[in-house]
Amino acid sequence: MAPLVRFAPSPTGYLHIGNARPALLNALYARATGGRFLLRLDDTDRERSTETFAAAIGEDLAWLGIVPDLHARQSERADRHDAAAERLRALGRLYPCYETPDELERRRKRQLGRGLPPIYDRAALSLTAEQRAALEAEGRRPHWRFKLDHRIVSWHDLVRGEAHVDCASLSDPVLVRADGSYLYTLPSVVDDAELGVTHVIRGEDHVTNTGVQVQIFEALGYPVPVFGHHNLLTTADGEGLSKRLGHLSLRSLREAGYEPAAVRSLAVLTGSAESVRAVAGLDELAALVDLAQISRAPAKFDPHELDTLNARLVHEMPPEAVRDRLAGLGVPPDAAEQFWLAVRANLVKVDDASTWWRVVAGPVEPVSADAGIVAAAAETLPPEPWGPETWKAWTSAVKDRTGAKGKALFMPLRLALTGLDHGPDLSALLPLIGRERAAQRLQ
Ligand code: GLU
Repeated sequence: MAPLVRFAPSPTGYLHIGNARPALLNALYARATGGRFLLRLDDTDRERSTETFAAAIGEDLAWLGIVPDLHARQSERADRHDAAAERLRALGRLYPCYETPDELERRRKRQLGRGLPPIYDRAALSLTAEQRAALEAEGRRPHWRFKLDHRIVSWHDLVRGEAHVDCASLSDPVLVRADGSYLYTLPSVVDDAELGVTHVIRGEDHVTNTGVQVQIFEALGYPVPVFGHHNLLTTADGEGLSKRLGHLSLRSLREAGYEPAAVRSLAVLTGSAESVRAVAGLDELAALVDLAQISRAPAKFDPHELDTLNARLVHEMPPEAVRDRLAGLGVPPDAAEQFWLAVRANLVKVDDASTWWRVVAGPVEPVSADAGIVAAAAETLPPEPWGPETWKAWTSAVKDRTGAKGKALFMPLRLALTGLDHGPDLSALLPLIGRERAAQRLQ
């Protein structure tokens, strides 16, 4: 059976580079195995989920090159979640609890004071029907906990190998809140099972959830999917990324002019067995990623690496790939190819090309560093047409006339022609500047 993977963000914020990691690891896994990719919006939190964020998730994934094969929304599947909760109740695996947060907190402190692990003591399980009725008469509404089997749940993890969670050391998790709404745990199991998800690839912050969720899959009689838990991207000092941190959101990176391939390479290859390098295509990236080789240490990344990766990609981009973007920067179509080949090696981002287009088309504030050389250059300016050989022929004429050579020759010419002391190879740039503008700048 072809794998079905899923990425399941809640639409409560913009995706950041840390979210790109599970999104991409799932998409690449599907690509490598001929599987399909489901985008599931975990939007059961009605207060914090918004349509704006939901739409943004789709756009940001598309920007990364991920086109989901299937879509689902948890908010549209409430009847399925209710049915599963009902079945768990009937099985005696979902039981009502009436403790307030304060009462739970006091109990926890008492346990800790006695050196006991702060695990829910299941007091609610021994309430009689009369006691429950009395609590409800007080106006209390129950929340519902899943009764865990106190056993070790183990699985073969795609990333971590043999993995296990000792459920005897966990509190029975709350699946349903007092207001009847669900926490993430149960809907995720129901949707994964009923939508046919075969592989759950997600961050290692979900390892404990997996122990619990495997028990829920089993209790409901669903097949248990394969799990893989990857390390999380962290900043260099080990700090986790959060949706609330606007920086490093995929949109801000896109607006800053980074290539999606640079972001993909950093998000995926950091903390993998492969060195972080610029990989242009998704297939190529899919071929490099082996979940089993992903490190267990946190995937520390340096956002500055994005510049290096981006520059590498831009230096290799063929003119066809940037035609529209150059037009957007005001580069005329007939000059675009020649211009791109002349400047791309000097760029970090595609948009930086606008600086060099200004150098070509002007206005340029020429800098005169050596009046003698500039005057000789103006006098020896060759006739058009100009091509890649023009610069060499011209500068040797200036050299013959002035005796200047090397930097003493080239730098005054560069400063006069471009107003800058650095930039693309002038043999490539000069034909674009053209005779008329060059002559003006040498005045
Ligand atoms: N909505 C959950 C989250 O964003 C999904 C976790 C999962 O992949 O199961 O953390």
